Amino acid sequence: MMHTTLSARLFALYTTLAAHFAHEPHWWPLWSQRPQFEVMVGAVLVQQTRWEAVEGAVQRLIAQGWLSPQALAEAGTGELAALIRPCAFHTQKAPGLQAISRHLLAHYGGDPAALFAQERQALRQELLALPRIGRETADTMMLYASDHPVFIVDAYARRLFARVDVFPGYDFLRRPYDEVQALVEAATADCGLRIADLSGRSAIHLFHWRFHALITVACIHHCLTKPRCDLPGARRRFLDPRKCAEHCLACGGCPLRGVCNAYQEQRTKNKE
Ligand code: SF4
Repeated sequence: MMHTTLSARLFALYTTLAAHFAHEPHWWPLWSQRPQFEVMVGAVLVQQTRWEAVEGAVQRLIAQGWLSPQALAEAGTGELAALIRPCAFHTQKAPGLQAISRHLLAHYGGDPAALFAQERQALRQELLALPRIGRETADTMMLYASDHPVFIVDAYARRLFARVDVFPGYDFLRRPYDEVQALVEAATADCGLRIADLSGRSAIHLFHWRFHALITVACIHHCLTKPRCDLPGARRRFLDPRKCAEHCLACGGCPLRGVCNAYQEQRTKNKE
């Protein structure tokens, strides 16, 4: 019963965000001919880092001819760190990316597809055993570099779900990662099949693919630490010209105001 309510609210959240951010269908934004490895690298680089810095770092890796497991494994660690430098913890991410590359070369002939062909739990354990890969990063790789239908429990999802109060009484900000993931995945199990333009065996994967993207864009434009509920979304300067520009010029405010508990509470307080 509780899952039925949560399921309906999460589905409503998805459809509302999808209508507002209809211009964002192209996640994960890719630049190279090695999409799976690019996602793996990007998932590490984006830790504690704005996407704009990741875009630049990935482009420099491509220009240098280093966006492959072989090239990264052979690169000088100091040079690699300098190349990805605007990204936080670049001196730790450089050897981390090289260790991940060496693992791919040693066990999968450098082919990420062979790694991701494993079943979910075995794959997740293997990814978590590698440097610079925690739960959020492992799940990001599984969702965007492969076809595993996982829900990513990042700070954005926790904050958005808590503010909207999508499941009253449940503390999305503090509950353990795996518990939140299991809750949301159970409540959204049939969501892929309820959306007209998602169909087939991978519908639930496409649902999670888009849902995470929509949560992210909602949080980088509106549901920031200091929310922009009644304001146009915060402008970002992405290298990818498909992202944001036209939509942000026309945006009139957060699309979730009608269902957001935090927003309604604030309005009530302002009237008192
Ligand atoms: S209405 Fe405001 S607090 Fe609620 S989700 Fe939108 S930006 Fe966040």
